[in-house]
Amino acid sequence: MSSLLLSPVKCVLDAKAQLGEGPSWLPRLKKLLWVDIEKSRIHLFDPATGNNDTFEIGSHVGCAVPGVQGDIFFAGAKGFGQLLPATGKVHWITHPEAHLPGNRFNDGKVDPAGRFWAGSLPYAESAPEGALHLLDEHRKSHRILGDISISNGLAWSVDHRTMYYIDTPTLRVDAFDFDTSTSKISNRRTVIRVPQGIGYPDGMTIDQEGMLWIGMWDGWAVLRWDPRTGQQIDRIDLPVARVTSCCFGGDAGDELYMTSASTRLDASALAKQPLAGGLFKVQLQVKGFAPFEYRG
Ligand code: CA
Repeated sequence: MSSLLLSPVKCVLDAKAQLGEGPSWLPRLKKLLWVDIEKSRIHLFDPATGNNDTFEIGSHVGCAVPGVQGDIFFAGAKGFGQLLPATGKVHWITHPEAHLPGNRFNDGKVDPAGRFWAGSLPYAESAPEGALHLLDEHRKSHRILGDISISNGLAWSVDHRTMYYIDTPTLRVDAFDFDTSTSKISNRRTVIRVPQGIGYPDGMTIDQEGMLWIGMWDGWAVLRWDPRTGQQIDRIDLPVARVTSCCFGGDAGDELYMTSASTRLDASALAKQPLAGGLFKVQLQVKGFAPFEYRG
């Protein structure tokens, strides 16, 4: 177990999410934005009160991110959308994969230039028919990368000049040079190779030391990696197998929130992990960053 822990791992919301995902800490609200993809819901969790607001989107929602005006943007089975949290109203922006009804959007995040990246996956998981898209500041989408199986974790280095990316079945974290004004990516290379047998790399975040924290699907853990050496350097054990993603939050930015899933676990597997689908939190000796906000 990690030597960076300042508290035990705690389940802060026994949410019974089917596919909990995409956590982002919203400093202005002091709430955690997260989604349950397969229940088609966006949530705002208030750790001070334990309230967990629910917004029904009506179709699978892969990720949700904050906007500069306080709105929430998301990507899901029907493309990119905007949620007005005050009313719960949804406005659909664009659907770059409308011609691919077997796909849905999955993980996504806003980059340091304020543009919204989201990647897709084919439900059938049969061929790499997913892609990574960028929603620019004019709400126009661009297809940036193809040949993706399960588009997942995104993070940017402390100096914003490197973008990290996970296509889960590759068991790799790849890096790109990132242009902080245009959001152009180039010079793809692999920086981490996850060994077989310890789970699948899913969502990720970065800390102020430039280290990556990766939720491990079927790995019972969040693992900390050094992208400069490719080495795993720390571990947080969880009481659930399907750890999907994580983000830093809290007043000081030193709390790590972690989402999990209960989907496709049979009764005997669920009996061994009754908190599957819960939200977890731990306080660490290292801090992260607040999420970037979409400026479109
Ligand atoms: Ca994911």
